[in-house]
Amino acid sequence: MPAILLTNATLLDATGKPPLKDAAVIVDGEKIAWAGPKAQAQARPEVATGQATVIDLKGKTLMPGMMDVHVHICQGTDPNPGGELTDILPLHAIRGVVNARAFLDAGFTTVRNVGSPGYADVALKQAIARGLVPGPRILASGWMLFTEGSGERGYMRPEVHVEEPGMFVGVEGARRAVRMDVYNGADIIKLVASGRVGSNAFTMPWDTELTRDEMAAVADEAHRLGKKVAAHAYAPHTVADCVLAGIDSIEHGVMIDEPTIALMAERGTALVPTMSPFHNYLQPGAEQRFPAYRLERGRPMAQLQRKNFPLYLSYGLKIATGSDGPRPGSLPGTTALELQLMVEAGMPPMQAVQAATKTAAEVIGMADRLGTIEAGKLADLIVVDGDPLADVRVLQGKERIKLVMKGGQVFRNSL
Ligand SMILES: [Zn+2]
Repeated sequence: MPAILLTNATLLDATGKPPLKDAAVIVDGEKIAWAGPKAQAQARPEVATGQATVIDLKGKTLMPGMMDVHVHICQGTDPNPGGELTDILPLHAIRGVVNARAFLDAGFTTVRNVGSPGYADVALKQAIARGLVPGPRILASGWMLFTEGSGERGYMRPEVHVEEPGMFVGVEGARRAVRMDVYNGADIIKLVASGRVGSNAFTMPWDTELTRDEMAAVADEAHRLGKKVAAHAYAPHTVADCVLAGIDSIEHGVMIDEPTIALMAERGTALVPTMSPFHNYLQPGAEQRFPAYRLERGRPMAQLQRKNFPLYLSYGLKIATGSDGPRPGSLPGTTALELQLMVEAGMPPMQAVQAATKTAAEVIGMADRLGTIEAGKLADLIVVDGDPLADVRVLQGKERIKLVMKGGQVFRNSL
């Protein structure tokens, strides 16, 4: 395969350096071979032979492919109250195929899935890797893990028994559940550590559903097997337990206070704030879309998150982009709204771009291969019509994303 020369770019490499105008990037095979001023590109051996395919970017922004580190890629966007329990597993997989294409189309070249039944996400990852269907790189979690009595499934009367492979009790159960997911192809472990906003069960979002020993067993077993753990948690006490148990990333963390933020910063625990679903609770018309109990819980949580967001920044938390979609009200591939919300909450635009690229790669443990445009990294690249540092909203909507490349292969080019 001849090399590809992407030239006349404004290079936003996501390392933190200011954009470089009149830049070029050379892609050789699946990797970035070189990046720098376009005047120097011609002398490079990959280009000097005259064999390289040249793509003129006409001054548009060239940046790393974006990442969404909190997706439920097999989930639907229809408000089906039964959800996971009434849709048969093949439907989850088929939805995953449709959603995967939409994510890639929108410039998301890597997603970390945090919970799909029946290993539908592992199957989707395998199908994409084998070239059967288009989609982003997927880190799959398989079944999310939670304990007996968790609000994860909503309330069911005590005689109703549902076979739940991800449900465990006790330290031994926790270790066994992690082993089961890893054995079946999980790249990452998703743990539900607290109740949910959207559950009609009796546990509240701020109730911790696991013991510290159970959390520590999950983290220890996952780490022994080389996997990271992402934990769903909201309240300061739940988050603190997770951090001290060695959990790698806190998902949502919406209610964290200053001491907990300081603890996370000290321990290097990442935060995936998933602002989008909470933003929905504050939108006009939310009363028609959500039951009252959800708004009563979700609205104050959303407001608290916005209020405390500057503290996340001042403590230097490692923050990565996660949409918590697709879900009703959040179509697949609309993740870039998350960047807008983070900027509105006080995050500098460069940091927001990095939250979806460099920092996201660090959070998922792939910073050696992904997240920035540097020689030797995988060529996951997008071309954007506009300047994301002037207005991160240009990353929303696929009409502004002019080219999507994953692993050196052009998925879409509408330049
Ligand atoms: Zn989620």
